[in-house]
Amino acid sequence: MVNKNENENKILESPYLRFEVSKDGSYSITDKRTGVVWYSNPYVKRLGSATVEIEGGRAWFSLDSFEISKNDESVRMRYKHDRKEVGLTIIVRLLDSETLEVSYETTKGLTVESIRLLEDALWATDTEKGYFVVPVREGLLIPSDSGLEFTHVFGTFEYEGCHMEMLGVVKKESAALITWHDPYVTVEVRSMINSAAEGKQILSLSLNLKRTARAFKIRFLGSGSYIDIAKAYREEALRKGWLVDWRQKIRQTPDASKLFGASNFKLWSCLDRRIDYKGNEKSLTVNWTFREVVEIAEHLKKDLGIEKALFIIGGWIHRGYDNQHPDILPANPECGGNALLAEASERVKNLGYLFCLHDNYQDIYRDAPSWSERYVMKNQDGSLKKGGFWAGGQSWLICSKKSLELAKRNLPKVKELFDPNAYFNDTTFAAGLYECYDPEHPLTKWDDMKYKQELCKYTMTLFGVFGSECGKEWGIPYGHFFEGLAGVSGKPYHTLEPSSMGARVIPFFEMVYRDCIAVYGKYGYDYSKAADYVLHHIVIGRPLHYHSWERGLYWKRARENEPSGWPYDLSCFIRADGGWAEGMCLADRFIKNTHEILSPLHEITTEMTITKHEFLTPDYRVEHVVFGENVDVIVNKAAGEFGWISGYEDYVCVSKMGEEVVLPPFGFLIESPTFIAFHALSWGGIKYKKPVLFTIRSLDGKPINESEKIKVFHGFGEQELRIRGRTYRIAKEEILIF
Ligand SMILES: [Zn+2]
Repeated sequence: MVNKNENENKILESPYLRFEVSKDGSYSITDKRTGVVWYSNPYVKRLGSATVEIEGGRAWFSLDSFEISKNDESVRMRYKHDRKEVGLTIIVRLLDSETLEVSYETTKGLTVESIRLLEDALWATDTEKGYFVVPVREGLLIPSDSGLEFTHVFGTFEYEGCHMEMLGVVKKESAALITWHDPYVTVEVRSMINSAAEGKQILSLSLNLKRTARAFKIRFLGSGSYIDIAKAYREEALRKGWLVDWRQKIRQTPDASKLFGASNFKLWSCLDRRIDYKGNEKSLTVNWTFREVVEIAEHLKKDLGIEKALFIIGGWIHRGYDNQHPDILPANPECGGNALLAEASERVKNLGYLFCLHDNYQDIYRDAPSWSERYVMKNQDGSLKKGGFWAGGQSWLICSKKSLELAKRNLPKVKELFDPNAYFNDTTFAAGLYECYDPEHPLTKWDDMKYKQELCKYTMTLFGVFGSECGKEWGIPYGHFFEGLAGVSGKPYHTLEPSSMGARVIPFFEMVYRDCIAVYGKYGYDYSKAADYVLHHIVIGRPLHYHSWERGLYWKRARENEPSGWPYDLSCFIRADGGWAEGMCLADRFIKNTHEILSPLHEITTEMTITKHEFLTPDYRVEHVVFGENVDVIVNKAAGEFGWISGYEDYVCVSKMGEEVVLPPFGFLIESPTFIAFHALSWGGIKYKKPVLFTIRSLDGKPINESEKIKVFHGFGEQELRIRGRTYRIAKEEILIF
């Protein structure tokens, strides 16, 4: 007797996995190393669905009937619509013992508009300890037991979409990595509460392929977590040529090493001109002249002791920022014109800083002297593609092929006039990839990526250090810093709300690409409410961005009675009672404290990746991170899951150097051989009445307990520090000699 099931189901098998598919397209995949089985659509028995053009019309197919043939490495599934062949074949191939590739082929007469080859697949339920990892900004972990229903779409390289071409899935500690290499892939994550099955939650995933997207891969990793998924994806990134690390970049651009430990200061913006929708000037404000720009940089260096900085100015261009692009020259006379900007560049560079000009090759304005519709991207119907409504009024989007032309027109002159040692092109790594339908300069998303990469490469060749907004993995070989990937306006995301999916932010980017690029957040935020944001930056090991400034020489005109900051409060990092920045203005206190923590942390870990990350408490309040082998970080984020204040609690840990360390709400501990920092209630055997901030750094490269020269910085609180068997009293900063 022939087993009916065996006869109908086709099986692909390797030592590590088993793929079994039936004629209706439903399938299961067993990861043999863990015994975990992954399934196809739990709602409809089928492989997926497709929208196609056939015989001059449009049709939607439910992919639920196949004629299947197989050999040792692959299964070919010919789709039958009403029992007829229509020319669509799905191929599942074993690429190696742990990887399946899924692709499709068509014959003449059938064109696929979009196809879901994964549809509500690879799902996990609330009882299976499942989660998905989405590479959006730093990284998002979406658990399968949140109790929430939602659908969220992540387009490849879209704004807050997938910033890398991958997705991770984990169920019962069995991990798999899904990868593709095409911007025409969209991921949909869906969570359903299925009341029929006793309130069970199902978290599932769909992959929508269009245009050139014809395939994806699933690599089954056996037992693992998001850390193993990151490691596996790093191999993929290397294969694609996008994993270009600092060693290679610094060989080409030695100045790029100035980014190691550099905080990001952006004067936004020197000249601020506002135009209404009719093109009338509403306001014109000089926030900083180019002379004041220099005074601020010198203040940071001389008064605050900031050694490493990426110092960026916006609004230096002719009419002020977001006005009359792409006609940027000459530098605006209101702030001092060409001569004073050239002098500012020289003097800021002389401080050892990167002096960076903020520019833009995406937007064009109708009132710009070189306005021409021929530069503008066209929609499918031939109309002009609209950009945002910014300070200079309505902007239009320049086709990226034309951007390159305009950059080649402008930038050599900028180089000659001002010679900045760093440059910033707005939006290039932020906006999604566009299509252009102008017959003179048509673009697919692939072309858009190519011309944007060329623009970056060109800018880099001219100025050296180069950066752009947010950050996508295709930009990694073509830049030195991403501004916005780490966070936006004091939060990890811009419009995405992790709580809507019960999701948690994880430092996934730092596990894949950390040693390739500098990363910052973007936009201003309130320093007196930023403790969570500071701790987020400690977890990812990235210096902060300081983009909120009062006009003019801010420290000279600071308001009296500025808040001094409270312990156990979001304002704790503006404290300076008894510490280094006591008596200084609020902005300076915050800058000094946070730079002293984050700059050395970044400097010593720039060329490492995060090798371990875990939540130490059930409410996800306390996080533990390891950079490389021996840089250990613990933070007590105080606010529990979903950003609610779940009740403030101390966290007690025992460390090598500090013995029992009590971390109050918003406390942290960084411990490594050559750098220690803590915001704690006890360290080294001393118990403090209120949380104190100290950092300790070896100056001779030897471990702190053997070093002959140690620098101690005291941010705030009591001044006693017990180290190497002695108690010191450190008011501001001391060099200890042993
Ligand atoms: Zn075009």
